[in-house]
Amino acid sequence: MNYEELARLAEAAGFTAWAPLDAATLEVKPEVRDMCAQNTCGMYEKRWSCPPGCGALEECAERLKRYSGGILVQTCGDIEDSFDFEAIVEIQQDHKENFERMYAELRKAGVDVLALGAGACTQCKECTYPDAPCRFPDKAVASMEAYGLVVLEVCKANNLQYYYGSEKMAYNSCFLI
Ligand code: SF4
Repeated sequence: MNYEELARLAEAAGFTAWAPLDAATLEVKPEVRDMCAQNTCGMYEKRWSCPPGCGALEECAERLKRYSGGILVQTCGDIEDSFDFEAIVEIQQDHKENFERMYAELRKAGVDVLALGAGACTQCKECTYPDAPCRFPDKAVASMEAYGLVVLEVCKANNLQYYYGSEKMAYNSCFLI
């Protein structure tokens, strides 16, 4: 699938912006994993999609190497300020829905894709980690951060605007093809 087709899917899915992703720009960084380990999101050691369940950083880097490019996708919306949690959660939810729509289309098309989302996998209310295998390995999605990626740097390196000012919030994800 070429970039034009990916861009059409991104638009149809509802994303507000997208850009071609050059896999050569992806740098896996141990310090991002260190931030995950601080568990500020509460998901560390809680989901197969999150560290350490998603595999060692070296394994993630190896998986990334299988792909040459893809698309960065973004959902941006209005907030009153950084304490406008209602709007922030709404934008995050919109982004997840857009992401699910596009990922489903890519799977339907039989594309070999590595999908990296924003935040932990939320396919199941309760994850099976670590007692039983993942229920939906084809749908479970790790975050870009779980793969050691600094999202701001990935956006910069691939010419996708990251910050739109204090009255906007943007969530980012990617599909590697
Ligand atoms: S699909 Fe379910 S079991 Fe698998 S990582 Fe996501 S939440 Fe956990």
